[in-house]
Amino acid sequence: MAKIYIDPGHNHSGADTGAVGFGIKEQDVSVQIGVMLRNMLINSGQAVKMSRERITDTISQSLNGSLSARYNEANNWRADLFISIHCNAANTKAYGCETYHCTGSIKGAELAKAVQNHLVAETGRANRGVKAANYAVIKHTNMPAILVETAFIDNYDDNQFLASESGRKACAMAIYKGVCDYLGIGYAFSATTEEFKESEDEEMNKRITELEERIKALENPMVYNFIDKNTDKIAPDCNECLKHLVNIGVLKGKDEGLALTEDMIRIYITFYRAGVYGK
Ligand SMILES: [Zn+2]
Repeated sequence: MAKIYIDPGHNHSGADTGAVGFGIKEQDVSVQIGVMLRNMLINSGQAVKMSRERITDTISQSLNGSLSARYNEANNWRADLFISIHCNAANTKAYGCETYHCTGSIKGAELAKAVQNHLVAETGRANRGVKAANYAVIKHTNMPAILVETAFIDNYDDNQFLASESGRKACAMAIYKGVCDYLGIGYAFSATTEEFKESEDEEMNKRITELEERIKALENPMVYNFIDKNTDKIAPDCNECLKHLVNIGVLKGKDEGLALTEDMIRIYITFYRAGVYGK
């Protein structure tokens, strides 16, 4: 049995509140993911302590107090692993997941790598890789420690992912599997953790993810109204295709339009006609 300290980042109030995006708060998402992770770990026989268990928890009103309380508690408890959960934020354009370990920590890097691998696989977020840093909570902890930046809360697409329960569960599941890999133990799934992943066609999901990544890489996006009469000029089945993609959740956007270039739409239509998205 391992002792695992889960640290949902930030506080409900005070100097150490987190980032906010589209009405969702990092300090709430971190607790929601942390609680799911705790349940998975306890279910597989591990001992867990959490810095915050409720969204309304505030450890300290000051930033230093907030950070030192976390690593001191983990050190005093003699945790085997320390996991801090966060959401990233930048300029609304950046997206994806990344995992930090303390600079120079070999075991921390191993744990970060194991978690990051699963994060990419489970969440389908873009892979920003494993990184080294000297954040207080991973620097002053005596055990292998990581800080997981699950996704960007200020990026619309990542935000919608974090806003969904299935998205948050995918984050928790990824961290859980990474911890199991690091510890060299198998995954223990209860009914609650097993049911989270809808049994969909894995191969199809992989192809869609690859395609979406290619589309995201294209430049000069402009807003395209999918009921715009211009779409008829691109292809006769353009509107039908885009509506289908919206219906099945491949495309997400506001009612007034989807940020697509003509090139992107052509790729979608080609794949649509080839039956990639089903009919
Ligand atoms: Zn944070």
